[in-house]
Amino acid sequence: SLSDRLSATFKNLRGKGRLSEADVDATIREIRRALLDADVALPVVRAFTGAVRERALSDEVSQALNPSQQVVKIVNDELVGILGGQTRRIQFAKRPPTVIMLAGLQGAGKTTLAGKLAHWLTSEGHRPMLVACDLQRPNAVNQLQIVGERAGAFVYAPEPGNGVGDPVKVARDAIEVAKTKLHDIVIVDTAGRLGIDEELMRQAADIRAAVNPDEVLFVIDAMIGQDAVTTAQAFNEGVDFTGVVLSKLDGDARGGAALSVASVTGKPIMFASTGEGLTDFETFHPDRMASRILDMGDVLTLIEQAEKTFDAKQTEQLAKKVEKGEDFDLNDFLVQMESIKKMGSLKKMIAMMPGAAQFKEQLEAFDEREIDRVEAIVRSMTPQERANPRILNGSRRARIARGSGRTVTDVNQLMERFEHARKMMRQAASGRGMPQMPGMGG
Ligand code: GDP
Ligand code: MG
Repeated sequence: SLSDRLSATFKNLRGKGRLSEADVDATIREIRRALLDADVALPVVRAFTGAVRERALSDEVSQALNPSQQVVKIVNDELVGILGGQTRRIQFAKRPPTVIMLAGLQGAGKTTLAGKLAHWLTSEGHRPMLVACDLQRPNAVNQLQIVGERAGAFVYAPEPGNGVGDPVKVARDAIEVAKTKLHDIVIVDTAGRLGIDEELMRQAADIRAAVNPDEVLFVIDAMIGQDAVTTAQAFNEGVDFTGVVLSKLDGDARGGAALSVASVTGKPIMFASTGEGLTDFETFHPDRMASRILDMGDVLTLIEQAEKTFDAKQTEQLAKKVEKGEDFDLNDFLVQMESIKKMGSLKKMIAMMPGAAQFKEQLEAFDEREIDRVEAIVRSMTPQERANPRILNGSRRARIARGSGRTVTDVNQLMERFEHARKMMRQAASGRGMPQMPGMGG
């Protein structure tokens, strides 16, 4: 992994002050490879690493970090920045209906997204209407009707059997229908082609001009890889979209398309589609995507740890958190393990706690090295995973197991114990018993 390569390259450089040019270049070579592996387009990689190099040579020097960590931190910050920094929400029209138009290549996931948007907006209290403006593919109207039915949304479609319809007229008529039927949101599904072609662009631009949408969402398949740049540029010029939706992120794609598109268009990525189901859809998170692109959850963890050298304040904060009954997460857990290690033996420490006698047997059986094993697992998680263990699905668990040299069963057992400990902490906080240290057997 990237982190292995980086730590092998930079083992001996810890504690250096300013980065030398050679240090930076060696790190940048690894980053470059990680970006290309993630299918970020080459010109984007070049521009990006150039900017990072400049910043790394001129910039902030943190005493806590070694040179490779410093560069990785800069890379991560820059990635998050290019990916939009913060999440951009849908802009609603001052006077309804809000019109959302979908554009993109055939198979990108527009029609599927139309259903997801309708479903989500309905749950938010809106009355969306879907409009079938893909009159190209024989089955497209029917597909949208099925999607709409599933999402519980009304679908406006041209009468069948009138020859090839005019999608611009359909779109225009649909807005009027929405007004009379009191739909506050109109989602316009359009036709795509397998490749970029002028007629397709013209049709999309004509629809855009006819209905003056509040949002034009460009849907792009995350698996598209190196073609992301040309496709995004063509749609940006041809249709001038306002936001991007990255689809099929449930696949193996490392998400390089996200960086390519954001970088060449400067448009925000707003949503991610993660499956074929109606609810496989989420707000886009730049920080998560940055970690995914670099495949460097563990590197970031190391950086975080290096930066926050353990101090007493943290323990105090943690104690307060537990007292207040706030949720204890795996980031807290890691801090706690650090402090335990600093204090020496866990057994001795627990033995000194009031009520420890009742744990005597468990303490005897407890292997101190268990702490290191547990720590390895937790360190292989990304900060997001630690903050929100619920996102730990099968593939994440497999990755964590690989990263920590443990088995998936070990990861599962740890998570079970963690959840159990969390429950105990809540009880302890409400005065009903003594907290148990997570990570301990039993
Ligand atoms: P359109 O041509 O842009 O309207 O694309 P469709 O919505 O018809 O989707 C094309 C294919 O991709 C369909 O088989 C969808 O089920 C599938 N699809 C769409 N979005 C996703 C996604 O996020 N993940 C996965 N795995 N499949 C998707
Ligand atoms: Mg479609």
